[in-house]
Amino acid sequence: MKPPPFTYHAPRDLGAALRTLEEIGAGGKVLAGGQSLIPMLNMRLVAPAHLVDINRVAGLGGVEREPGGVRVGALARHAEAERSGAHPLLTRALKLVAHPVIRNRGTVVGSLVHADPAAELPAVLAVLGGSVRVARWRDGAPVERDIPAAAFFTGPMESAVLPGELAVSAWFPDLAPGAGCAFAEVSRRHGDYALAGVCAVAGPAGAARVACVGVGPVPVVVDVSGHAPDWAAAARAVREETDPDDDIHATAAYRRYLVGVLAERALREAAQEAETLGT
Ligand SMILES: Cc1cc2nc3c(=O)[nH]c(=O)nc-3n(C[C@H](O)[C@H](O)[C@H](O)COP(=O)(O)OP(=O)(O)OC[C@H]3O[C@@H](n4cnc5c(N)ncnc54)[C@H](O)[C@@H]3O)c2cc1C
Repeated sequence: MKPPPFTYHAPRDLGAALRTLEEIGAGGKVLAGGQSLIPMLNMRLVAPAHLVDINRVAGLGGVEREPGGVRVGALARHAEAERSGAHPLLTRALKLVAHPVIRNRGTVVGSLVHADPAAELPAVLAVLGGSVRVARWRDGAPVERDIPAAAFFTGPMESAVLPGELAVSAWFPDLAPGAGCAFAEVSRRHGDYALAGVCAVAGPAGAARVACVGVGPVPVVVDVSGHAPDWAAAARAVREETDPDDDIHATAAYRRYLVGVLAERALREAAQEAETLGT
């Protein structure tokens, strides 16, 4: 199918992008990599009156190391962030996102704003306690706010980015010194969305957290530090926190079973990595 008609905007700088978004308000959508938005337009699942293409906006790219973490600009593609190797958990998660052609075009920030509960990157932001920086035009100048991951994912395909706002970057905090991480998921074919997935951060001193993919409306974050190093018990606790749905790909019961298996696997792997780092 073809998309419904829309007015196309291609601003060249951040001020112009923000002014345009402010003017068109709820009738507008940002176009970044287009790897989710274009299929949704073509299937007529969304019908914005205006598209603001940010691909020519200067200053929105880059994967930058800053003290305490990594900042990923709104135009940094999955492939660029993956190649940079800037953050071990982000790198692992990106290898599981779709296929190389999609990763060449899709953006890390776009994936976060899209907030698909089956996507890997929202879980990474959530388990690390990262944040997303958004900007809007107010009184003739851009103003920014940082939204912590815990408040960012508000429902399936819903984030806290408001009409008129542009997500300009995402912040992925470093792991604690000596911590290990892992991402385990099951999908029918490599590159497909996962039936369920778990990313885990473990150590040092028994600290352990997971964020689960595909088993709730938003990433399900569980602190299992109290169970370390009994990862089987930790996995049971994780399973109890999830509320998966049935769909054409898997039953809710299978997804809940799977998430426990994956949680135990990811926690063991992350803890093993932490142990290796400590020796
Ligand atoms: C065949 C296929 C398989 C895929 N498999 C996976 C997978 O396994 N795992 C996975 O996680 N993803 C998968 N994806 C999705 C892919 O990762 C997308 O790249 C990602 O969801 C969105 O990034 P984008 O830059 O393409 O955003 P777009 O498609 O351009 O936009 C997506 C949404 O986010 C909004 N948006 C984007 N950027 C901004 C911004 N800076 N500020 C405000 N709003 C913004 C848009 O308005 C739109 O609502 C798949 C896609 C395809 C086509």
